[in-house]
Amino acid sequence: MPKCRWTLRQRLTHLSPMQVPLLDLRLQYQPLKSQILAEIEAVADSQGLILGPRVEAFEKAVADYCGAEHAVGVSSGTDAQVLLLMALGIGPGDHVITSPYTFFATAGCVARVGATPVFVDIDPATYNLSVPALKAALEKYPAAKAIVPVHLFGCCADMEAILKLAAQHGVPVLEDAAQALGAEHPLGGAGAMGEAGWFSFYPTKNLGAFGDAGMVVCKDAEFASRLKAFRNHGMEPRYYHRWIGGNFRIDALQAAVLQVKLPHLDGWSAGRRARAAFYREAFAAAGLVGKLTLPVEPWADSGRVNHHIYNQFVIRAPQREALRSHLQKAGVGTEVYYPLPLHLQECFQYLGYQKGQFPEAERAALETLALPIFPELTEPQQRYVVDQIAAFYAGA
Ligand SMILES: *Cc1c(COP(=O)(O)O)cnc(C)c1O
Repeated sequence: MPKCRWTLRQRLTHLSPMQVPLLDLRLQYQPLKSQILAEIEAVADSQGLILGPRVEAFEKAVADYCGAEHAVGVSSGTDAQVLLLMALGIGPGDHVITSPYTFFATAGCVARVGATPVFVDIDPATYNLSVPALKAALEKYPAAKAIVPVHLFGCCADMEAILKLAAQHGVPVLEDAAQALGAEHPLGGAGAMGEAGWFSFYPTKNLGAFGDAGMVVCKDAEFASRLKAFRNHGMEPRYYHRWIGGNFRIDALQAAVLQVKLPHLDGWSAGRRARAAFYREAFAAAGLVGKLTLPVEPWADSGRVNHHIYNQFVIRAPQREALRSHLQKAGVGTEVYYPLPLHLQECFQYLGYQKGQFPEAERAALETLALPIFPELTEPQQRYVVDQIAAFYAGA
C-alpha cells in the first residue's frame, strides 16, 4: 500500500467537507501583499518609525473618510479612549454613561482614569444603547461627564435621540466607533457625530493594522492639539510637560499598512453587506427566520450606503451553546460577543450592580452568536453554514 503523505491536518480537513473560519485575514492580505511590503520597506529604509509624515497623511485620510474635522493616530482603540478621557480631564468622582453590552474596554477605560461607569440597558433589536434607559440615567446623573454610545457590530446607535438628550443635559457624546469605521447614520459618519469618537485598527476590525493601532477624531482644532500633546506625555514644547499624558503614539509602520488598505474599505464593506444579504435570503429559504433573530438595519432607509458595515453578523439563536458546538464540529467558526455583560464582570463588582438589572444585555449575552462574515467568504461556504444550522434545528 502506498504511504499516505497527507499531514494530520490535511486528513482532518478532508474528513470534514468544508472549513468556514470566522475570519481569515490571509485572504485579504494576499492581493495587497506586494504593495504592503513595499510600504513596510519604505518605512524601514526611512527609519522614521513613530508618528511623522505617514501618520499625518493617514490621520488626514481617516478624518476625510469619516467626515471628522481632526484625527489623532494612537497606539490602540483602548488607548484612544483613555487618551480622550484624560484630555477631557475626566477622572475620580465623574460619571460616564455607557452600555454594559460591549467589549470590556468601553467601560474599562472609564474606570482606568478613575471615573465611574454608569451602565444603561440596550435596545434588544440593535444591541445599542436604549434611549429610554439613557434618558432615565441622565435624570439620575444630570452632571454626568460624558455619554459613550457604542456602534456595536458596525451599526450606528440612535444618534439623533442620543445627541438630543445629551444637548438637553449639556453632556458631551463620545462615540465608541471601534467596530464602525465607515458606518453611516443619517446624521453622519460613525465617530464624527459627537464631540469626539474613536476607532480601533485591531486586526479583526474592518480596517485592521498589522498589530495594534487606533485613532481619535474630534470636531475642535484646539482640542485636537491637546490630544496630540497628551498622546506624547503632555509634552509641549519638547521636554516641557504642560499636562500628565502618556505614550499613546502610533507606529509609522501601522499607518503605512493602514493607508494601503483604506481605499479598499468601502469595497470590503460592500462585500460584508452582500454576504449579510445572502445569509438573510438563505435563512428565509431554509425556513429559519422564525427560529433565528437576524440583525436589524435601522438606517437602511436613509439612503446611506454604509448604513451597516457588519463588523459582525450576529444572530440570536435558541439553544445557542448546542448550536455552537454543532457548528464547531462541522468546521464552522463562530464567536460569542459577549458572554458576560460588563455590569456582571468580577472587576466591576465594586460598582454594585446586580444580576437582572439589565435584562436585555443579559439576554443578549445568552442568546447571540456571531457567524462568519468577511469579504472573501464564498457562496458555497455561506450555504454550508446555513445548511449546518438548518440541520441542527431539524434534528433538535
Ligand atoms: C476593539 C474594541 C475596542 C478596543 O480597541 P483595541 O484596539 O483592541 O484596543 C473598544 N471598544 C470596542 C467596542 C471594540 O470592539
